[in-house]
Amino acid sequence: MEIKKADFVISAVNHIQYPQDILSHVAMVGKSNVGKSSLINAMTHQNKLARVSSEPGKTRLINFFLINDGYYLVDLPGYGFARVSKGEKSKWGDMINEYFDKAHQLKLIILIVDIRHTPTGEDLQMAEWIRHYEIPVIIAASKSDKLGKTRVKPQASKIREQLGFTDQVPVVPYSVLSRRGIDDILNLLDEYIVECRPTL
Ligand code: GDP
Repeated sequence: MEIKKADFVISAVNHIQYPQDILSHVAMVGKSNVGKSSLINAMTHQNKLARVSSEPGKTRLINFFLINDGYYLVDLPGYGFARVSKGEKSKWGDMINEYFDKAHQLKLIILIVDIRHTPTGEDLQMAEWIRHYEIPVIIAASKSDKLGKTRVKPQASKIREQLGFTDQVPVVPYSVLSRRGIDDILNLLDEYIVECRPTL
């Protein structure tokens, strides 16, 4: 479904601050600088909803956006920035763990990876985490405009395999420049939210 309304709700540090209602969550996660903020802005047709930065590692909070007054897009802090202390890394881990633990309305994770790169150790760890918590996942492979057309699909499938996911897990190459794949991501997301909507 097209996103007609997107409102920033809160930047949360811990679960006390998460929105306290029963709406579904779709969380987005990926390496810092992978293009997560740009994807949120492209999905919501807003230029500035999520902050796009050329400086990796700026977002350290969990940002909640209310979409079409019907569900939350949850922007999880990016990982993998180089100049970060061990203490900050473990704070990041605690924050994500707490979210996975407490957010019972989490219906889907969009794991974002750069289509040009082999997944890093942290990407693999995140994939493991997602499997451990048994959260449905789709892979969004960013910056597809940077690859030649014929390489896009095979490269996307290869990344899925490298992350240890079967072909049951959808992988969508996308580009915020051409908007290729953006509607596919939105359509997929709808499926998960509809499927999981409680029957009244
Ligand atoms: P974040 O740290 O994951 O939120 O990443 P950003 O959204 O801030 O993007 C990091 C950089 O990648 C920025 O310079 C963006 O302009 C660029 N970028 C994001 N998405 C795309 C894309 O689809 N294609 C290209 N060529 N560049 C992108």
